[in-house]
Amino acid sequence: MKTPFVTKEKVIEIAAKYPTPFHIYDEKGIRKNAGAVKQAFAWNPGFREYFAVKANANPYIMDIFQDYDMGFDCSSAAELLLSQAVGADGSHIMFSSNDTPESEYALADKMGAIINLDDITMIDHCEHALGGKLPKTMSCRYNPGGVIELSNGIMDNPGDSKYGMTKPQIIEAYRILKSKGVEHFGLHAFLVSNTVTNEYYPMLASKLFELAVEIKKETGISLSFINLSGGVGIPYKPGEQANDIAIIGEGVHRAFDEILVPEGMGDVSIYTEMGRFMMGPYGGLVTKAINEKHIYKEYIGTDACAANLMRPAIYGAYHHITVLGKEEAPCDHTYDVTGSLCENCDKFAVDRKLPEIDMGDYLFIHDTGAHGFSMGYNYNGKLWSGEIMLHEDGSFEQIRRPETIRDYFATLDGTPYYSKIRFDEA
Ligand SMILES: *Cc1c(COP(=O)(O)O)cnc(C)c1O
Repeated sequence: MKTPFVTKEKVIEIAAKYPTPFHIYDEKGIRKNAGAVKQAFAWNPGFREYFAVKANANPYIMDIFQDYDMGFDCSSAAELLLSQAVGADGSHIMFSSNDTPESEYALADKMGAIINLDDITMIDHCEHALGGKLPKTMSCRYNPGGVIELSNGIMDNPGDSKYGMTKPQIIEAYRILKSKGVEHFGLHAFLVSNTVTNEYYPMLASKLFELAVEIKKETGISLSFINLSGGVGIPYKPGEQANDIAIIGEGVHRAFDEILVPEGMGDVSIYTEMGRFMMGPYGGLVTKAINEKHIYKEYIGTDACAANLMRPAIYGAYHHITVLGKEEAPCDHTYDVTGSLCENCDKFAVDRKLPEIDMGDYLFIHDTGAHGFSMGYNYNGKLWSGEIMLHEDGSFEQIRRPETIRDYFATLDGTPYYSKIRFDEA
């Protein structure tokens, strides 16, 4: 059973002011979870979560994480500028980019951000971008290759992934960086996405801690921080067991005590770059049923589409749907719940058992707080929705207005067609 964090009554109240569709975020849930993350790693004095901005690039949300002294993981100029705009200093910005243009290294360095190099060839690019002088602190991204398998069947294939350096490369990279005057070093890896198991971080930590010991033996470099990056997942499906961040933190602690402490490396700081785990469950897409059709299947058409939530269309991802006000009604109808794109993959749900849906019903599409709004796009001329924050006291605030047709056409500004677009008629 998955329960929305808003009621039908509250949605009616909000929709009277801000029409659907909109993504809504649960400030209470965000704060409770952020506090639990801090607590889980409190054993490590240098611990810091760098929220992965790509998961939800709204400055109001980023600002909440600053109350927990968290930083931001960025991989583009726009994400860097946003982190700067919310007031983050360099030590709170991790630049974990790949295929990086030199201009972005320059921007990251100007902010004093920690640069995490995706590849050994990036040493030269970065040095060139920064006018020949590397920063005092730098990090390197590791890719162990092969296949990673966890006991509950989740697996991924780092050997097929474009990220990071091989072991010989990363050891060579540290040597080069040291010879070029870098003084403080970090190690980073991201091996498996959306792991719904408490095993992933402890497994990854053990691998990275062992590598850290090897790096010290080979190069004399004692790492300052180890960055476990993202990949901690959430239960999208009802019945899946949620991760317990306290158990995960303890698992990392155990590996730390077993592997790093005996080597005299107990001063290493643990960093994370979680996105999904920080925000996923604390967002929902609220959309209204506006059309129905009965052909070979039963369809419910909503006022949202894949441009507002792309995951079901591109990965076939499951997002649970609650028909607001019908939480207790029997799920005795089978629907495809669709958006309006001219693409047959634009379905929020396929063959989903739901209560009978009436036109005008509000649907709550769960778990859109991460990689939801932020993955939006404009295909078919569809506009971005607004975003609403539901505060702890039940009041609400629009934290991003919906896109307008004028916004959509803004990049035609300066062409002869722009002045002929009759915005007012839409
Ligand atoms: C996407 C990403 C993250 C966040 O991943 P989640 O699965 O959302 O936790 C963290 N670090 C990097 C470098 C990423 O690309």
